[in-house]
Amino acid sequence: MFELDVKERNVVVTGGSSGIGLAICQAFLQKGANVSNWDIQQTDEVKQLLAKYPSSFQYLEVDVIEESAILKAVGNTWGTVDVLINNAGIISKSPLENICAEDWNRIYDINVRGTMLVTKNLLRKLKVSGRGRVINLSSMTAKIGLETYSLYSSTKAAVSNLTKVWALELAKDGITVNALCPGWADTAMKGKLVQGIAGIHDIPNEKAEELILGHVPQKRFIQTEEIAFSCLFLASTLAQGISGQELFIDTGLTNMFKPGV
Ligand code: NAD
Repeated sequence: MFELDVKERNVVVTGGSSGIGLAICQAFLQKGANVSNWDIQQTDEVKQLLAKYPSSFQYLEVDVIEESAILKAVGNTWGTVDVLINNAGIISKSPLENICAEDWNRIYDINVRGTMLVTKNLLRKLKVSGRGRVINLSSMTAKIGLETYSLYSSTKAAVSNLTKVWALELAKDGITVNALCPGWADTAMKGKLVQGIAGIHDIPNEKAEELILGHVPQKRFIQTEEIAFSCLFLASTLAQGISGQELFIDTGLTNMFKPGV
């Protein structure tokens, strides 16, 4: 039976307190799933969800680079985990000549090592599920170049590649592993990107937004709900045969070539 059957599935979302992760938590809760949000901050939105879904929503304070905190959370969450969404991530802007060890280590720690640590430590619970799903938040920048964002892009290329290899390793356990690669999504992180582009061209933020949207096929930013809906699909039996894939939610941007622009 193939359907969008996420009701009563046990879901772990990292970085679910804001932006894309928050939309993912909301989408799964609305569909009747149990959601555990692992983040370093408890926002007002999280408090509201805790009040609205007292028995199906959980917030655990977890820094994804702290293995001891991850192990504690594994013990404090659902007995079986059906879906893991590795969403926690940070961005860093730095031209090559300014890249320092501290920035390098921090972004690789959170975006790459954090993704590995959470997945590795939840593996036993995902295997028990028998229909486990791992969904990693990569980015369109895993595929295309974005000036001065080589640090961020390279971490996302790593996440996309971990996805492909883990899909092969975990197929025997009935676990699928896929990556979502959003384009420009409307979150706080987008704000930082806009500021970065404004800085490169020495223009105000509004002009930078116009410049960005001028290069986006649908002339709009992706809404976080759109990314959450793709998670619902990949988590369901509808997507049982899809593994090791990168799904680009970018309104076609990644494949665009505009001669002369
Ligand atoms: P965001 O900054 O709005 O949210 C990130 C969340 O992760 C926050 O709640 C933050 O507290 C949490 N977090 C940060 N470090 C953490 C840590 N060490 N441990 C646990 N939680 C931590 O970002 P967003 O825009 O919603 O992005 C979510 C994911 O989507 C990221 O992996 C990002 O790289 C990816 N992404 C975003 C965009 C975009 O345009 N916004 C595009 C492509 C990919």
